[in-house]
Amino acid sequence: MPNLMLKFVNLDQQQPHKRSAEERKQDFKEIYQCFSAEQAEVQASRCSQCGVPFCTTKCPLSNYIPDWLKLTAENRLQEAYELSIATSSFPEICGRICPQDRLCEGSCVIEEDFKSVTIGAVEAFITDHAFEQNWVQLIKPLRELSKSVGIIGAGPCGLAAAVVLRKKGYQVHVYDRYDRAGGLLIYGIPTFKLNKNIIVRRQEWLEKSGVIFHFNTDISAQTDHHSFSFDDLRKKHDAILISTGVYKKKEVSLFGSNLNGVVQALDYLIASQTENANSKQFNAKGKKVVVIGGGDTAMDCLRTAIRQGAISVQCLYRRDKANMPGSMREVKNAEEEGVEFIWQAVPDAFIGEEKVESIRAVRTELGLAETGGRQTIKILSNSHFTLQADLVIKALGFDPEPLPNMWNNDELQIHESGRIKLNSYNYMTSIPGVFAGGDIVRGASLVVWAIKDGQDVAEKIAHWLENNLKKSLYPQGKSLNDISFE
Ligand code: FAD
Ligand code: SF4
Ligand code: SF4
Repeated sequence: MPNLMLKFVNLDQQQPHKRSAEERKQDFKEIYQCFSAEQAEVQASRCSQCGVPFCTTKCPLSNYIPDWLKLTAENRLQEAYELSIATSSFPEICGRICPQDRLCEGSCVIEEDFKSVTIGAVEAFITDHAFEQNWVQLIKPLRELSKSVGIIGAGPCGLAAAVVLRKKGYQVHVYDRYDRAGGLLIYGIPTFKLNKNIIVRRQEWLEKSGVIFHFNTDISAQTDHHSFSFDDLRKKHDAILISTGVYKKKEVSLFGSNLNGVVQALDYLIASQTENANSKQFNAKGKKVVVIGGGDTAMDCLRTAIRQGAISVQCLYRRDKANMPGSMREVKNAEEEGVEFIWQAVPDAFIGEEKVESIRAVRTELGLAETGGRQTIKILSNSHFTLQADLVIKALGFDPEPLPNMWNNDELQIHESGRIKLNSYNYMTSIPGVFAGGDIVRGASLVVWAIKDGQDVAEKIAHWLENNLKKSLYPQGKSLNDISFE
């Protein structure tokens, strides 16, 4: 067969078709179309098949990127699919919402002059195509095992763990306080980035594969008909995985924070995706909207407000564009859709009688880098200015909820920040048989890292269950009490 690869020299990068800003502002549909088979094959052929593929090194899942690109270029799509799912439980999700510019594509060696291979779009295409062709098989374990695992949280971490454990034959029960699976994939990330049908398709696939979901079930300290206690769950299952994410909103305590019209980002995003979309408090239609923050959540709020028909949408961010934590691709999309960015400024007070009417803001200056590498921020004196606003959305990030208090369980060790402490050797918490992964361990992070954690912790759970001796996984001669938790 002739060499189909290395075409980057004479073949330009083409991203999947992106709908025009004017068109996409009118609806909540995904803004990128999927590749056709022909487009995917052509774009995959641009890969130079690096001996040491930096794309793979930078992918949290260490996906076999050059290999499935080559198979795609050769039109061996079923093999490409099999290879893609060998390392990733949900490639069609990562292909859509990973910040590829900071991960695989940002490390592609042909990135600078020739522009990277469109790895994410090809990855999403491969699994979408596999679903269309009925190549996606239900999970059929070689043998059913009697042991069961209770997973608290149906976000990407919990779901990825469910896939791995079910394949091994364990009885998998997933508990979630929401009414469906997906966590922030459903009640966070907007539809214009990730079509919800993609998640529904995966939920159905998991259900048909034998995973048992318990929705509208809050795991708490007390038990009623909508909840189980954490202790009940521990008695019911042989092992537990905590993958509850982070939902405690970070706050700014400023004058006027309690005014009507000053809302939290996740409340706003959830309302926009449920029957509350038209609620007066949350709908941005006809309003002057200011979003505070510069991460992915802020970008999602800005672009949701545009779609709801806001008069103006501004983003107030304390650092400059180069230092934004969110994906540059999302910043560009927001700019195209009409968002105005106000760099190096922070709110000082929210002004209004009962309802917010404006924000008093101050300018910042960036100083020297701190130990973490980020530049410090200094408020510039006499730099006040005012922004008109009838809806202010605070997108300042999230911390973990204090689970030991919520579950009335002081055995569960946590960091000061609320993140769960893990034994890095076997991913177990300070409670034997209770494991954890995803944002509740890392702090607010990315979907791909939650999937990686879910897959990894599931292997550790299976290993622990197979051995069934709680001490057997600890380094020789050590007991649970000798282990320090990180
Ligand atoms: P989650 O997805 O938060 O899932 C946790 C689940 O646990 C939830 O379903 C919750 O209902 C359930 N739960 C919590 N407590 C309980 C309880 N006591 N009882 C029962 N159930 C419980 N990442 C990206 O990679 N790309 C993006 O574009 C991106 N955009 C984002 C946009 C927004 C607005 C936000 C908020 C985050 C975004 N992220 C993005 C981050 C990403 O969504 C998270 O890192 C990821 O979802 C974490 O997965 P998880 O499984 O740990 O937790
Ligand atoms: Fe790139 Fe994310 Fe896919 Fe890895 S999982 S190849 S980082 S899009
Ligand atoms: Fe292909 Fe780029 Fe990965 Fe090299 S770094 S293997 S060119 S995708």
